[in-house]
Amino acid sequence: MSNQPVRVNHHVQHRYPLGIRFCPLCAGRLEDRILLPDGREHKVCAECGFVHFLGPKLVAGCLVIDAGRVLLLRRGIEPEVGKWTFPGGFVDFGETPTQAAMRETLEEVGMRVRIQRHLGLYADPANPHAAVAVYLAAPGAEIPGVSDEAIEVRFFAPADIPWDEIAFRTTHEALRDWIALAG
Ligand SMILES: [Zn+2]
Repeated sequence: MSNQPVRVNHHVQHRYPLGIRFCPLCAGRLEDRILLPDGREHKVCAECGFVHFLGPKLVAGCLVIDAGRVLLLRRGIEPEVGKWTFPGGFVDFGETPTQAAMRETLEEVGMRVRIQRHLGLYADPANPHAAVAVYLAAPGAEIPGVSDEAIEVRFFAPADIPWDEIAFRTTHEALRDWIALAG
């Protein structure tokens, strides 16, 4: 085993959760079994009985609003590299969604934002891996900058949003909701 740092391989991550084969507790084989009382098939460990419930992972992000303009970043990593979205990422275990949204914004664009309100919870049926909690946030004092994850960062007025280059359907829907609120 190497103790070298690693980078996330998006293609491997997306084999989870449907591709899971062994129990995360005892490494026993997982079998598809009908579970009572819901009567639906789930993956159950043949050794210890652990039920591996599948569900979307929670992502949290911010629309940082400054003088009627929204902060977007051009993605430097897969998926949807080169397209625009807002700062955000997976909520860690032990973290609240608002903490995750602020942490990801600091990591990706170097700005300490202040969460103001929840905008909405977004999900794309074609991409069941994640559900995205989106917050409206006030900008920090820092000038937003680039990172590995954000190769370009800028504020957009609603009329200037590059709709043909938006990364995700959930990004699209959150931006539409913000514009409807602001309008
Ligand atoms: Zn097990």
